[in-house]
Amino acid sequence: IFISFEGGDGVGKSTQSRLLGEWLREVTGRVVVWTREPGGTDLGRVLRQEVLHGDDMDPRTEALLYAADRAHHVATVVRPALERGDVVITDRYLDSSVAYQAGGRSLAADEVERLSLWAVEDLLPHLTILLDLDPTVGAARLTDAPDRLERAGDEFHLRTRQAFLDRSAQDPARWLVLDASGTQEDIHDAIRAAVVTRLGD
Ligand code: C5P
Repeated sequence: IFISFEGGDGVGKSTQSRLLGEWLREVTGRVVVWTREPGGTDLGRVLRQEVLHGDDMDPRTEALLYAADRAHHVATVVRPALERGDVVITDRYLDSSVAYQAGGRSLAADEVERLSLWAVEDLLPHLTILLDLDPTVGAARLTDAPDRLERAGDEFHLRTRQAFLDRSAQDPARWLVLDASGTQEDIHDAIRAAVVTRLGD
């Protein structure tokens, strides 16, 4: 089973994806691999550092760095784990690229999608959980110093949020959209219920 978490900054993806991982480990007894993008591998951590804390870059350069991170992540972590029969949970996956590099940065969505699918040889999650939240509420929850993208401005984050919502509406079978303004417990409960229904056990 392959599950991705998506959404803006500060919506609770890391917390909720880890909680789901712990729960799945308990109830299924299966190995759960929790991972993230960008930066789920050694190479990815180098790319993450450059893309988030390096100099400003052209949107195409940025899109290619995320795609490179993702290609390596899928080839060395995600696919091997799925082949072993493990559950894989990733904090962000290719929908982040369509939302940020296309919705946010204004590259063409179909081009970013094609690049992303090429990078992962068409591997899509069984379930993608979108934690949806007003970006100003998300930004207020962040505790670390903002990175280059988090400083990108309100308009950028509003476009990104809308891109996630539009994209999820195109493929409701894969996506679960949840209001992320509730408590950590309520959101975790909603995620668990959906995982049971969608993935059937
Ligand atoms: O969620 P996380 O903190 O790992 O995200 C790192 C940063 O990268 C965030 O600021 C996010 O907005 C940005 N990002 C992006 N495009 C992606 C993935 C993440 O701009 N494809």
